[in-house]
Amino acid sequence: MASFQDILSKKSIFKDVSILSPHYVPSHLPFREVQIKEIMETVSPALKSQKPKNLFIYGKTGTGKTCSVKHVMDQFNAEDGSSVMTYINCRIYNSRYRIFQKIMKQFVPELDKSGFGLPYLYEKLIEEIKKGKQFVIVLDEIDMVKDLDELVYTLTRVNDESKAGGVSIIGISNKLSFKNELDPRSRSSLYESEIIFPSYTSTQLQHILDQRIGIGFEKDTVEPSAVNLAAAITAQECGDARYALKLILSAGEIAQHSGKMRVTDEEVELARKRVELDLAAEAIALLPDNLKIALYAIASLTQNGSKYSRLDGVEEGFLFSGEVYEEYARVSLVLHKKPRSVRWYREYLNDLEMLGLITSTMSGRGIRGQTTLIKLGYPAADISGLLKRTLNIE
Ligand code: ADP
Ligand code: MG
Repeated sequence: MASFQDILSKKSIFKDVSILSPHYVPSHLPFREVQIKEIMETVSPALKSQKPKNLFIYGKTGTGKTCSVKHVMDQFNAEDGSSVMTYINCRIYNSRYRIFQKIMKQFVPELDKSGFGLPYLYEKLIEEIKKGKQFVIVLDEIDMVKDLDELVYTLTRVNDESKAGGVSIIGISNKLSFKNELDPRSRSSLYESEIIFPSYTSTQLQHILDQRIGIGFEKDTVEPSAVNLAAAITAQECGDARYALKLILSAGEIAQHSGKMRVTDEEVELARKRVELDLAAEAIALLPDNLKIALYAIASLTQNGSKYSRLDGVEEGFLFSGEVYEEYARVSLVLHKKPRSVRWYREYLNDLEMLGLITSTMSGRGIRGQTTLIKLGYPAADISGLLKRTLNIE
């Protein structure tokens, strides 16, 4: 019979596994000193009752934008004074109204019980700034806000209403095209100043990992070459610190599970496959049904082998676009969905390729005329298993 004593006394490779979670924010953020200082300088006027410039922060996923801003915010809010810095995750608060609710919640306690219209919340905000308060509003993942132009307009208009306090905005995004998609007026307002967070290099990631491994793992359980490998893989893929942490955590779990109790290059390689599959699963979960069906068709044909795989000049694992369309149409009907036309299907293939889930190439002439050949980017059994579950097949 299992006992807690047995379980608790089992040796673990981890000293404190929570340290390796991306939610853990270390008190010191190496390689972000410059950016943090710049953000502090930008918002510092608010602590002297002056309106700071708006700031825009751009950088790819996992470059430390969120944790750097939160770091500044903690220090800001620890200072005396009436100014406030508020953090808003726009993935959750994704409209002007919800953002106003979130900002004003601390000043309108009744907000929990009953709803108030936007005009009421706006008036309340003006009341607060007339008392001389400066609001610094952090809009993280700002590109997720549905009515962003209206939000920016409303927040900046507040500044015309009072000579005393004011509102400034720190927008954060990892979407490169975002700036160009904005209304010119919102753009000039949001981009009064700008900071770019570069992707981490391999050496930097190594340092970040070492710092975490030192407190998260038991001593000498992770080989230095494994850390180098995890950092190198991450730098090559994306430079995303979150990915590097996932990789080393997963490698630790693999080592623990196998009883080896030591993370070597081998565990990192195995973890890489697992982490990539996790990321693929995240991307697949967000796909519309038609794309899921098209991808499922590719995975199941890959498992069963292409009808034409014996033809000369077709490389292992490649499928003909035509046979995939037939399979897509067949599966759609099984799921009681009307298959879309070939024109749409080509769009789906483009989308799947953009997401890195498949690759496609043109066949040479001669094989049934010229056609598109398709290859799945991940192991077919894993992908078809995943999709069977989300599409409720069988
Ligand atoms: P972004 O907002 O740019 O996507 P985050 O700030 O959320 O990235 O960073 C993701 C995680 O990576 C953080 O929670 C932290 O654990 C880790 N991280 C990022 N930058 C650093 C750094 N310079 N030092 C240590 N850990 C970091
Ligand atoms: Mg972030």
